[in-house]
Amino acid sequence: MRRTEQIKFSCLLLAGAIGLFASPGYSSAEGEDPHARHQEAHVHGEAELSMIFNENIVQFELKSPAANLFGFEHAPRNDEQRVVVRAVEKSLRDAAELFVFEPQSSCKSVQVELELPFSKSSTDNEAHEDESEHSNISARYQFVCNSGETLKAIDLKNLFINYPRLEKLESQWVIENSQGAAILGPGKSTIDINTQ
Ligand SMILES: [Zn+2]
Repeated sequence: MRRTEQIKFSCLLLAGAIGLFASPGYSSAEGEDPHARHQEAHVHGEAELSMIFNENIVQFELKSPAANLFGFEHAPRNDEQRVVVRAVEKSLRDAAELFVFEPQSSCKSVQVELELPFSKSSTDNEAHEDESEHSNISARYQFVCNSGETLKAIDLKNLFINYPRLEKLESQWVIENSQGAAILGPGKSTIDINTQ
């Protein structure tokens, strides 16, 4: 996927989630590819994060090739890989560890939704045994803050510590009515919030 298409896709995600961009700046008719949702970027080592922060509610959506987290993209084939799958799922559910908010903001995890490629029901699916097939994960998180207005930064360093194969996280956010973007990685793992 070309970079411009990636950006448009990410904007679509954000717009779909909050409906902020009903008009200016985005035209749904202009060059829209009906298959865009099936052409997500899949580059091992890279992932995408979108964040929406509005009225003390913070939502994240993380999309990543499964290889970044598990080290493989096929259904687990032995006990060792099944242990990895369980461990990754457990760590992905630990929202408070992955997204570290400043204490004064009193932000608490209220919801985690995971879409993982090798759920129990799919472990016997022959389609997933194909080495040539890639797979992705998607994870959505919601936090509610008591004092969101005091929040200046969110630290994601544990994401890069837990998943050392993840080298580049293309991040975009909408905070109230402003937008920002950054490339995060092990050396720069903080989302700086500047609503001024
Ligand atoms: Zn892959």
